[in-house]
Amino acid sequence: MALFALCRPPSAAGRVKVTSKQLVLYCLLLCLLIYFLRGRKTSVPVGSARPLLHPLGMDGGREVKGRMADAWVPKKQRPMQTSWGAPLVWGDSSNSERRRAEFMQQEIRTGLLVLAVGSYAKFLRRFLSSAEHHFLPGGMVTYYILTDSPRALEPPIKLGPDRQLRVVPVAEMPGWERLSRRRMALLAAAIKDPIGNEVEYVFCADVDQEFMAPVGEEILGDLVATLHPELYGMPRRDFPYESDEISAASVDQDEGDYYYTSELYGGLATEVYHLTRACSLLILQDQEGGVRAVGLEESYLNRYLIDHRPSCVLSPEYSWWDSALATEVPVRRLVSLGRECNAMDPQKRENSHNC
Ligand code: UDP
Ligand code: MN
Repeated sequence: MALFALCRPPSAAGRVKVTSKQLVLYCLLLCLLIYFLRGRKTSVPVGSARPLLHPLGMDGGREVKGRMADAWVPKKQRPMQTSWGAPLVWGDSSNSERRRAEFMQQEIRTGLLVLAVGSYAKFLRRFLSSAEHHFLPGGMVTYYILTDSPRALEPPIKLGPDRQLRVVPVAEMPGWERLSRRRMALLAAAIKDPIGNEVEYVFCADVDQEFMAPVGEEILGDLVATLHPELYGMPRRDFPYESDEISAASVDQDEGDYYYTSELYGGLATEVYHLTRACSLLILQDQEGGVRAVGLEESYLNRYLIDHRPSCVLSPEYSWWDSALATEVPVRRLVSLGRECNAMDPQKRENSHNC
């Protein structure tokens, strides 16, 4: 009807007569048309079970099998949600602002749990002082340090108000190989007692990292996992899931949404306890069967997160390191110095004071 009205021939006087009702109708139609055209251009599909790809073909990017590694993702095109409706967190988004405001109204204590055994004790001070600046600034935080070198914390690091530090002594053999089998069990035991009784949320982090920019209450959720910066936006076939069917970490071809990093994950203390305990049992099962997943601990974590999809997914801003494969992010909030060293060529690594 409205379209028909538009096509009516001019009146006898040669002038088009338009009633006010028709004018309102035309405006409405025009608005609808503009809305649909804009929506088609900028909408990001969230229905797909696969991760979203970076837009290709941007200037200055390094091409990495199927996506540009450091292609800039315009704010409007960043996915804000996973296919199962969990928030995908970018610190500078309005969603994050809202989440921070919501959580800041509540009196929440959060634990930050790290393991520092053997030579890794050298990372402790840098990790903690950067966390004092950037991890839940102004929030109530307890650091839990599982270490065999409590002396690395002397003299004590000055903590802000409402911030505490607890040392949980461990007598562990250093070395990634052995610790990668023991780490989840150690974390589970510490969360069971004392962490679970003292805080509501807990985050497990690798100690060889540094906070570079604010990591606020936007990261809080029941079960929180972080996207791997080198695999963000890559096709599912490139994810290094465990493929050996004998392993308890094995993932079928048709499973998996994202590839998560083991550098940072967390959530409600009960949820993180279940995660760490389940992973430690899978690791034990494989150890008894004489198998070991390719990605070690990260493989078991990814297996668990397929069976228990996280309720909050952090963008690679919250786990980033400089490498030829890493995606570019708007803000580098938490940076892995250890993985950065691993990605360097031997010469550069030799000269770097971080490695
Ligand atoms: N770790 C440790 N001592 C070691 C090896 C590892 O305390 O000898 C802890 C430390 O918290 C470290 C984490 O285990 O950050 C994981 O090890 P790493 O960072 O070497 O593993 P990657 O990030 O390369 O997988
Ligand atoms: Mn690490």
